[in-house]
Amino acid sequence: MKNGSKQKKPHCIALFSGGLDSALAILLMLKQDIEVTALTFMTHFGCDLGDRSSCGGNPYPAAEKFGFNVKLMHLGQKFVDIVENPQYGRGKNMNVCVDCRILMLTEAKEFLELTNADFIITGEVMGQRPMSQVKNKLNLTIKKAGLKGKLLRPLSAKLLPPTEAELSGLVDREQLEGISGRGRHRQLEMAKEFGLDNYPSPASGCLLTDRGYSNRLRDLLEHTGKLTFDDLNLLRLGRHFRLDDQTKLIIGRNENENKLLDFHRRDHHYRIEALDCGSPVTLLIGNASEENLNKATSLTVRYSSARDNALVTVSVTGPDVDRTIAFSPGAHELSESLQPVR
Ligand code: SF4
Repeated sequence: MKNGSKQKKPHCIALFSGGLDSALAILLMLKQDIEVTALTFMTHFGCDLGDRSSCGGNPYPAAEKFGFNVKLMHLGQKFVDIVENPQYGRGKNMNVCVDCRILMLTEAKEFLELTNADFIITGEVMGQRPMSQVKNKLNLTIKKAGLKGKLLRPLSAKLLPPTEAELSGLVDREQLEGISGRGRHRQLEMAKEFGLDNYPSPASGCLLTDRGYSNRLRDLLEHTGKLTFDDLNLLRLGRHFRLDDQTKLIIGRNENENKLLDFHRRDHHYRIEALDCGSPVTLLIGNASEENLNKATSLTVRYSSARDNALVTVSVTGPDVDRTIAFSPGAHELSESLQPVR
């Protein structure tokens, strides 16, 4: 301390999902009187504050309770690019965890430089997750993000080489943890000690770890090679059927999905609905040949409450068609062989 002026507190940037581990990493810093700015990343794949499939949870309750700042960052197209072409492969499903961590750390590094903070922390635990958190993957993400010596993992720190922040005395290594593996016993004990409650139960990850979503995404990428934001909005909705290389159907599973399909419908989409009964909304995207429109009609009726009626009135609208037809569900054989992508 010089001339009675206050010495600047050490300042770290935390990757904060809102989940238990990243919250505990932050609390270990606050305990040492280190200022924390938490970054919560969002993507189009479920890592979103209002999204139940998020990797973590709402970051704000813990931030308010324990006194640290949260900044939200949407990874937008940068994340879509790595989902299309991951450099380090995928996990069990379409998840791109290694590329994802590198991207998040690279963004965090830019923020670190912008704010003149001292180091970065994450809630990663060695050996906890199969793909992104084994030791060589941890090292790879550090190297690729250009963070050698600058990335501290407070929950596993004692098992890892000391970082610059520990070597320079900004952080007391003795007060950090040496947790590894999938068990959460120590984390639950720490949550109790810190008075941390209402944390979400461990989530399996973003939508890219979901098998059904991944199969729909894989099918789309195999047929288009590119992802648009319209595609991504529709991938979350309905049953998806592949009719041919250019054509797919999306069939709403409930009233809410029907409304959302109407909301996301574009001018080039065809819309099919059985009238005067409980019917899904179906969107046909691609080649609206008579054969494909017939299959779409048959499937729509198959999922409607009128599937056993002798005759069903069906509306078909699209860029070059606006008609109401009488459809005989006896023609279900058109759709019987078609199964949703799942
Ligand atoms: S599950 Fe993997 S790809 Fe999805 S947000 Fe988490 S680390 Fe990233």
